[in-house]
Amino acid sequence: GLPSLSQRDEAGDELARRAQIFASAQERYYESPMQIERGWRHHLVDTTGRTYVDMVNNVTGLGHGHPGVADAMSRQIRILNTNSRFLYRELAEYSERLLALLPQGSELDTVLLVNSGSEAVDLALRLAQAATGRKTVVALREAYHGWTMASDAVTTSAYDNPYALENRPDWVHVADVPNRFRGTYRGEAGDATVGARYAADLGADLDSLAAEGRDVAAFICESVLGNAGGVLLPDGYLRDAYARVRTAGGLCIADEVQVGFGRMGSSFWGFEQSGVTPDIVTIAKPMGNGFPIGGVITSKKIADALASQGQFFSSAGGNPLSCRVGIAVLDAMRDERLQENAATVGERLAAGFRELADRHDIVGPIHGEGLYLGVELVRDRETMEPATAEAAAICERLRELGVVVLTTSERSNVLKVKPPLTLSAESADFMVAQLDRVLTEGW
Ligand code: PMP
Repeated sequence: GLPSLSQRDEAGDELARRAQIFASAQERYYESPMQIERGWRHHLVDTTGRTYVDMVNNVTGLGHGHPGVADAMSRQIRILNTNSRFLYRELAEYSERLLALLPQGSELDTVLLVNSGSEAVDLALRLAQAATGRKTVVALREAYHGWTMASDAVTTSAYDNPYALENRPDWVHVADVPNRFRGTYRGEAGDATVGARYAADLGADLDSLAAEGRDVAAFICESVLGNAGGVLLPDGYLRDAYARVRTAGGLCIADEVQVGFGRMGSSFWGFEQSGVTPDIVTIAKPMGNGFPIGGVITSKKIADALASQGQFFSSAGGNPLSCRVGIAVLDAMRDERLQENAATVGERLAAGFRELADRHDIVGPIHGEGLYLGVELVRDRETMEPATAEAAAICERLRELGVVVLTTSERSNVLKVKPPLTLSAESADFMVAQLDRVLTEGW
């Protein structure tokens, strides 16, 4: 039934309070949002008692209200929380657990813990510049890497950072985004020439930069184009791109803040999909299941270059509390077999979306893998004209029907599907059924 007047007033009051205390640039979603009271696994419950399937909260990888995380947190904060200048066992234990997830035999043997994805990217850029003694960073178009000064400078999405398209610092070079669906070069999944052409263009960029005396320190990208809606990189692109960057003397940074940590299902890290090993990996969001943890994983040699800039210290980064939370998250991922669930339920969901594409013209490419999927909505599959207004209206209607999903990409025309990894087959089917209903009935 409809929420009672007082319950609706509650959400309205909260909106009014936000309007007073928020900056206008702070994002919010939905025309008239519900007020959320609690979450459980991949469900949200609002103040009217209404439940929703949460298809978008990728920070809570284990799902909302995870008891293992809650217990670890409350136990540790009662015992000890100090900073990494002091000796305690949790920091090494958590770092070793993280390193065990990286390709064994690689040089990725050192962990620096911070508090967010933006900080992780910022630190990764600093590490690359310190280790190479160079300044230039190459980022891909349409990327989001964070809000701090440096991570924002490599954020190239016109949606997130239109200002920086005009005012980008001169140490950033923006390379073409290898999107085989709507980019400069297009083609089928198995067509290796597409990836090769984008990589060749990147190589030409690197040559020009070198000729200008701006030799590359680092190349940063998401291993799957998260901000574009989970667009998988063309075959061979990342391998070719990394080889060219390394030949030019630069380091390769994989931003795994969104696509890493088991979400892809078939691999723990996004970069494994391309058969490459980065020099620097940035991680955050799901590490703490909502508790703020971020990190950079790299080689000892690269990490030690930071010493040339003095000491590195983050007051809360790597504290006993965040490490205990991080360990509890890894335990739960293993014990609840969440990566496997991402693979099986993700495949079921993608198959459902592909079936919708057969029947509804507005559904274009289905991006991604595992529980990182994107349903791209287009007015015309040939021209790929984005169905932006339609996507927003579809999200509003889906919310009324009990599904929380939001848009992404520069064109805001991709439904981003990145739920907690606990998503059940039943909830996946529910999402597909509701989307089918909206596409059939209109919005
Ligand atoms: N990198 C990527 C790929 C991200 O998606 C994000 C967050 N959306 C960040 C970095 C920044 O993370 P945070 O919001 O934790 O600072």
